[in-house]
Parts: sequence; structure tokens; C-alpha cells
Amino acid sequence: MSSFLPFTRPSIDEETIAAVAGVLRSGWLTTGPKAKEFEAALSAHCGGRPVRVCNSGTVTMEIALRLAGIGPDDEVITTPLSWVATAGVILTVGAKPVFVDIDPITRNIDLDKVAAAITPKTRAIIPVDLAGLPVDRDKLYAIAPSYTLRVIEDAAQSFGASWKGKPIGSSFGNDSDFVSFSFHPNKNITTGEGGALVLPADIDPAACERMRLQGVRRFDEDGMDVEVLGGKANLTDIAAAIGLGQLKRLEEFTARRKHLARRYFECFNPGLGCMLPLKDFENSNWHMFQILLPPGCDRGRLIVAMRERGIGIGVHYPAMHLFTLYRKLGYKEGDFPQAEQAGRRTITLPLFPSMLDSDVERVCSALINALKSLA
Ligand SMILES: *Cc1c(COP(=O)(O)O)cnc(C)c1O
Repeated sequence: MSSFLPFTRPSIDEETIAAVAGVLRSGWLTTGPKAKEFEAALSAHCGGRPVRVCNSGTVTMEIALRLAGIGPDDEVITTPLSWVATAGVILTVGAKPVFVDIDPITRNIDLDKVAAAITPKTRAIIPVDLAGLPVDRDKLYAIAPSYTLRVIEDAAQSFGASWKGKPIGSSFGNDSDFVSFSFHPNKNITTGEGGALVLPADIDPAACERMRLQGVRRFDEDGMDVEVLGGKANLTDIAAAIGLGQLKRLEEFTARRKHLARRYFECFNPGLGCMLPLKDFENSNWHMFQILLPPGCDRGRLIVAMRERGIGIGVHYPAMHLFTLYRKLGYKEGDFPQAEQAGRRTITLPLFPSMLDSDVERVCSALINALKSLA
């Protein structure tokens, strides 16, 4: 019997481990030269746009909302089919999350439905590139041009993906807005925990740095002032050293994920009644390979059946508006039928760079088996 196959696992090489040891021996552990070096490398990846690193993806979105001046009485549009952080940050700054249903094909926010959700209070939109499949950037910036309606691209899952040949994080037109990345261990590159914020042209990177570290402004060797309340969100040099080691391998990781996704399409039994993801080998970074189970299939039992066959399955995600916190705001069953349907039927199959081609075959045959065992 082969060993348990988790749905994801980070790939950390010996060179990265040595670089971390180097930081630990250097005497400087917190934000310092490695964090700066990581920011420069990320900026180069994003076509030279300013990038600042933080200790989570979540906090970068919270900082983006604050830098855009969004708070109480404001509305922010987003998708109900995401990790809870996406809508959580809207509540954190005191604004109201306004959900718009997903497109059942891409499972991303349906941009054609956004216009109907805009009110005089709408200040921003947070689209999510679910599973690494980018939201249409041309359509997005046609809805929200020139910072009239702020955009915070939740690109936590799409680092390494692209839109029309340019990496996500780069500028798509003159007025590309905030882009948030996460380097949580499940993401395509990791820093242990961490995130990065790509800044738009109208935001001073120094303002972002103050938000990240207690609002402190230093103006000479012994002078400082605090004008705004900042948090504590700086990234350590230990984490940045991991990120630098990961970034070097981004192309290799993405290529490997694409290859494995292709293998899934080749190996998958079309007779199972499952819905496969959109076959996008141009833009997506294949952060996840998600399928929708046949209607009526008991997902909980299937997950157990797969675990018994040595395979880990993820659920990303149940529709967020049905969680108690959002029901208390007035959201209910039936509000976003496409997201609810996907949220009930979705499962994430194992996909990570160090997985073998034979693992894909193992997952596909275990799935046939497990589905049969439930019938
Ligand atoms: C992971 C993730 C986040 C949050 O990132 P953290 O680094 O864990 O704070 C936000 N949005 C989406 C869509 C994510 O997948």
C-alpha cells in the first residue's frame, strides 16, 4: 500500500533550508535585507510595480481597504465562493460585504451581474481568482476604471497565473489597482505564512509601510511620529528567505501543476457524472484541481471513502453567505444559487508539484471505486 496522498504539500528544497539557517545565524531575524530583496524580486515579477510584503494575505487586503479610505457606511462587492478572509476583511474595516453570484463555468464572480449590485455606497470590488483561474481583467477594469470604484484583486490563489500573457500582479491598463497575494503553505509559493500587496500608482508605498508597522513615520535618526493607527503586519527575514527560495522555482512549479492537471483530464472517467474545471492552459496556474460531484452524492461519505483509499480531499469552499455571521447580516439560502450549488458539490483533488504522474492515476481510480462504494 502506498503512503497517504494529501491534497497539497509544499516543496521546500535544501538550498532554501540553508538560506533560512543563514538568516538565523545572521543576528537579524525580523524585517530587514531579505524582506527588501523579496519585495524587489516580487516587483520584478509584477512588471516593476511597487510591492510590499506582510505577514499574511488577509492583512494585505485589510491594508488595501484602509489605504483606499474604505470603512463604515461603505459597500464592497465580492464573491460568496471564496476563503472566508475575502469577505472578513470587509467587515474588519467596518464596511458591508455585498455578494454577487458566481459564473458556474469559471466559478469566479459573475462580472455581468456586478453592475446590478452597485449602489451609491459601493466603493470597491474584491474579485477572487478561485483555484488560480483569473477573473477577466479587461472586463473587470471596464467596470471599475481609474480608481472610481476601487479594485482589490484577491490573487491569493493566482500567483504565477497570467492574463493575456502577463503575470497576475502586473498592470492591465493604466489604472490597475491593488493586488493581494498569499504565501500560506497551501498556496503555489509559500513563506510559511505571509502575503504581498501590489500597489496602485495613486498610493504612496510609505503609507503602506506605516499601515504595516504601527503607523510609525520616521523622519530622521531620532524623530518619529504616529499620524494613523497601524497594525503589526511586517514579514520576518526568516519568512522572506523561504519566499526567495520559492520564487526561484515558480516557473518549474507552475509547469508541473499544468502537466498534472492535463493528466487529470486524460485519466478522468467521463462516465462518473462529475463536472470538471474549465480547461484553461493559458492563464491558470492550477492552484487547485476542483471537480463538482454528481448531484445528490454524499460528499462527507465520499471524503471518508477517499481517505480510506489513502487520498486526501479538500473542500474549497462552502458558500460563505450561509455561515452564521453572514446570515445575521440578512443573507439566506437561495440568494446565490450558483455559489450554493458549487459550494455543496465541490471537492479538491490532490495537486502539488512533487506529486507523481502515477498519483493522478491512483486518485482517478480511487474515485471510481469510492463513488461505486456509495451507490
Ligand atoms: C489563502 C487565501 C486568503 C488569505 O490568505 P492568508 O495568507 O491565509 O491570510 C485570502 N483569499 C483567498 C482566496 C485565499 O485562498
